[in-house]
Amino acid sequence: MVQRMLGALLAVAVLLCISKSSLDFVAPQLTHQARNVGLWSSASTLVQGFQTSADSSAGASQPSWAVAAAFLTALAARKLSKVGRAAEGKKKPLRDLVPPPEADAVREERLKGSKRVKGGAKGQRFFSVRNRKFWDFTVWPRTYFRRVWEKKDFSYALLFGLIHIGACFAPFYFNWSAFAVGFFGYVLTGMFGITLSYHRQLAHLSFKSPKIVEYILAYCGALAMQSHPINWVSSHRHHHGATDSPNDVHSPKDGFWWAHAGWLLDQKGTWMRVDRSNAEDLSKQWYYRFLQKTYPIHAIVLPIVGLYLWGGLPFVLWGFFARVVFTWHVTWAVNSVSHVWGFQDWNTGDISMNNWLVGILAFGEGWHNNHHAFENSCRHGLKWWQIDMTWYTIKVLEFFGLARDLKYPTDAKMRKLSWDTSDSGAAAIA
Ligand SMILES: [Zn+2]
Ligand SMILES: [Zn+2]
Repeated sequence: MVQRMLGALLAVAVLLCISKSSLDFVAPQLTHQARNVGLWSSASTLVQGFQTSADSSAGASQPSWAVAAAFLTALAARKLSKVGRAAEGKKKPLRDLVPPPEADAVREERLKGSKRVKGGAKGQRFFSVRNRKFWDFTVWPRTYFRRVWEKKDFSYALLFGLIHIGACFAPFYFNWSAFAVGFFGYVLTGMFGITLSYHRQLAHLSFKSPKIVEYILAYCGALAMQSHPINWVSSHRHHHGATDSPNDVHSPKDGFWWAHAGWLLDQKGTWMRVDRSNAEDLSKQWYYRFLQKTYPIHAIVLPIVGLYLWGGLPFVLWGFFARVVFTWHVTWAVNSVSHVWGFQDWNTGDISMNNWLVGILAFGEGWHNNHHAFENSCRHGLKWWQIDMTWYTIKVLEFFGLARDLKYPTDAKMRKLSWDTSDSGAAAIA
């Protein structure tokens, strides 16, 4: 019974992703009619799956029908999206570039007024040995719920919710092989994919690789369910362009939880993301446009089908649901926790912090004050004790000739951003 429920959940998750929300990625210009046909066909495949499993007692406990249905629907949805696009003719703009009222209003005038981050001072004691104070933890939270919710916001919330629910089932299907698959997936997609490829290579160009290696690494990033490279890199470059200012894509000054994940569910609050011209170096390449157009297939369908065929439901629950949720929160913690607690070795003028816990969990990304100081550096943990797994991996790639032109902080910039204005201060860090 539980397995049947899980199967149904899995199927609904995949079908919804593909039929509704993900079509926004795949074909924003898809006609309503084509969308409805897609949804209808998904629903009927699902019902047929239920009937088949109810008729067959042997197959009742196996959700294989769900995976098969999802796969077929994915193909159908792709086909429909092409039909929709052809019928639509020319491309419409993504969305009108109208800044929402809150983006215009200064933070101090927001509805909720100012608040202090809960546990601000206590958290600082935990994350900074010397417990130095860099800011007073005052934030101006955006309106989380009573605001304009666009269709895409609802779709994303539904998708996030379903994947979190799926992850909650993982402990009931624990076995060491499934856990190992989940852990391997976290390293593969979280480190090789997000931190090494998406962040350090694609967003900041901090080292170069042969194209084939770059593309393979970027594919690992696509598997992390954090959008395709063009979108991810563009949002991240917007973050660096306006760090912790009112135009930041995700600053805790707009609310801790907003910076953690709320911004992903608020299209209007992140109006600047519509402009992806800052990632033209990627959108010029066919491979990244291909990942953009076919994204749900790589991030959702192939991993789920592959893991199910490999090790059944436990592999899907640990290798997809639990792994995606854990990697999400680790990545999001860089934007929330590492912009609230820790210490600043560099005078960056923002509230980016060096946070040891995020440094460990996010493969070196928690040394975030170092990163905001020297954003093009392939090394984030600048002191020997600042563990930076991503940088160690880049060094290994360099050893095998798979990474070159590694960038590091320059002496001039170190001197400029050092709290210690004497030359010896910068030299001590180097
Ligand atoms: Zn940041
Ligand atoms: Zn960055």
